[in-house]
Amino acid sequence: MADEYSKAIEQAAELILRSGCVTAFTGAGMSTESGIPDFRSPGGIWSKANPDEFTIQSFMADSENRKRHWSLFSESGLTLDMEPNPGHYALAELERLGKLRCIITQNVDNLHQKAGSSPENVLELHGNMQRVVCMSCREVTPMREVLKRLAMDSAPQCLLCGGILKPDAVFFGEMLPQQILADSAEISRQSDLFIVIGSTLVVYPAAYMPVYALEAGAKLIIINLSETPLDQYADVRITGKAGEFMPRIVDTVKAGMAL
Ligand code: NAD
Repeated sequence: MADEYSKAIEQAAELILRSGCVTAFTGAGMSTESGIPDFRSPGGIWSKANPDEFTIQSFMADSENRKRHWSLFSESGLTLDMEPNPGHYALAELERLGKLRCIITQNVDNLHQKAGSSPENVLELHGNMQRVVCMSCREVTPMREVLKRLAMDSAPQCLLCGGILKPDAVFFGEMLPQQILADSAEISRQSDLFIVIGSTLVVYPAAYMPVYALEAGAKLIIINLSETPLDQYADVRITGKAGEFMPRIVDTVKAGMAL
């Protein structure tokens, strides 16, 4: 199918074929086609809720706040076991082809792993909502088990110690997992190609990763529906959907490898 993006797809595939260390960096836009809204698009989560009210401090403050948090997560679909979309499967395929070193993700939805990407090659900067952690005894429980209790108890507590249960995702005001952050920064600097998919690139420190890659001389591909602050540095910029364009790029890579 030839269209206005055929040349950009060829260029992206060519860059992937020529590169030895390719990193993908994914944001909420990677998963909108799986039915999980992003935060900043019109109609996204922050058009319905005030981010200032969804901090770790407010979550820990009282059970009424916790109920509001759990209700927002449930409405957003983030607590549910959603299905990957063709964009996630394309990245898993790229890894199987030996053309993707790792995925650094801001997403907390577990969909890269569910699509078949190796868990050890998925660096989750903001945690994973499919796990719930007790803020007192640190016991980890699968989200699906906590969801069963949520209908009866809208601010669930730890069954072992009565502590506050929190999705194992990084809230505003919380530290990012430091080892994962350090590993992500190192891999970004080692990359010779960095592919940004579905991120506004305005959430820090995650958004430093493409900057580290660029500073170290990497080429940059951006696939995103709206503008990003790094568009001017992109070697290939595709304004389109991840689930549409990633499979086309990976098909073109496969065709190039077969030659
Ligand atoms: P964001 O909401 O700031 O931006 C998403 C970007 O993706 C936007 O620029 C939008 O234009 C683009 N986009 C939307 N659908 C797209 C598609 N189908 N294809 C390509 N681009 C698309 O998201 P962010 O930059 O990841 O930062 C928001 C924070 O929200 C992150 O910290 C992340 O942890 C969290 N978050 C995660 C999920 C998830 O895990 N699925 C969902 C919502 C928010």
